[in-house]
Amino acid sequence: MQNHESIYSFTCQEMQDMLVREGFARYASDQIYGWIYKKFVYNPDEWTNVSARIRDWFSSNIDFFLPKITKMEVSKDGTRKYLLEMKDGECVEAVTIPAPGRLTLCVSTQVGCAIGCKFCRTAFLGFKRNLFSSEIVGQFLSINRWVKDNVDPMMNISNVVYMGQGEPLHNFENVKKATLIFMEDKGTSIGRRRMTLSTSGLVPQMHRLLDFPPINIAISLHAASDDIRDKLMPINKKYDLRKLFEAIKEIPLGAHRRITYEYLLIDGLNDRLEDVEGLCRLLDKKESKINLIPFNEFAGSEFKSPSDEKVRWFQDELLRRDYVCTTRLSKGADILAACGQLAGKQTVSR
Ligand code: SAH
Ligand code: SF4
Repeated sequence: MQNHESIYSFTCQEMQDMLVREGFARYASDQIYGWIYKKFVYNPDEWTNVSARIRDWFSSNIDFFLPKITKMEVSKDGTRKYLLEMKDGECVEAVTIPAPGRLTLCVSTQVGCAIGCKFCRTAFLGFKRNLFSSEIVGQFLSINRWVKDNVDPMMNISNVVYMGQGEPLHNFENVKKATLIFMEDKGTSIGRRRMTLSTSGLVPQMHRLLDFPPINIAISLHAASDDIRDKLMPINKKYDLRKLFEAIKEIPLGAHRRITYEYLLIDGLNDRLEDVEGLCRLLDKKESKINLIPFNEFAGSEFKSPSDEKVRWFQDELLRRDYVCTTRLSKGADILAACGQLAGKQTVSR
């Protein structure tokens, strides 16, 4: 599939090591990194300050393929959803969400997902394969170029969230490598506070977060009791709330750092007073931040979204109890770009 190694899979250090190994000057790495990650120029023929010998060598030995944007839809609120095709023809979706002073990219980490949450459109696809780090970085590069060419030449993606298709901890090494590349000073240099990894709570992989750059961590909690979580997320039958919170305790929290708990609000299921109280028993006020996500409906799903009043009430109850709590406004719901609505070119049936 990938005959040559992809140019988008090297950290700066790895690029330097490769240059030295091939008998080139180490410093060319900074120039190459600048062309790709600062100027967003992906054709080595255009790297004017890089020697012709190096450009030739890269052209013949390294793969420059980038995920191809085959479809783009824009929502009333400015959210854009992109369908991206990989080299082997598999497709994933990614979303850009504009806000004053920032542009957040929601990237996919897998084609499909194996976790099978009952409320998630991606789950309906099943699991196809992991994405390579170059395909995760590639979503960023293709879309950043597209935004510059089509929206605003001065605009750049400022934040990255691993909240597209897939469970990032099922693809630990590739997601870690992509994160290190996004953080490179010589490249896009996205700070750790501007990146978030969201996990469904894959307990056996969670200790590996000790070996992951210290970006924001979000846990898809969605229920305050095993009863309800079992119904929503089959993973809870294997790794219940007790095991999940034991694993969360091991995540190192620097000063002022909180874990985000994503809590999907589903009408009549987990939006009651006893759910508020359950959450308060489960979560530490100082170390948690609750992010309420009103369920985004899609055809074929059995759940309903609660009313706006209900969502506000739920949030107020938590605020009244001194929790940090925000509600994620449904971005891009009209183009199925909101949380949990991402699928792919395959039609979703079930
Ligand atoms: N797989 C990871 C990250 C991607 S999903 C995870 O599950 O954490 C990003 C967020 O969207 C998760 O919190 C997920 O539970 C939520 N989500 C999934 N389906 C949704 C839906 N239909 N409506 C609203 N949020 C949904
Ligand atoms: Fe996978 Fe996340 Fe969807 Fe669950 S919510 S099926 S973990 S993508």
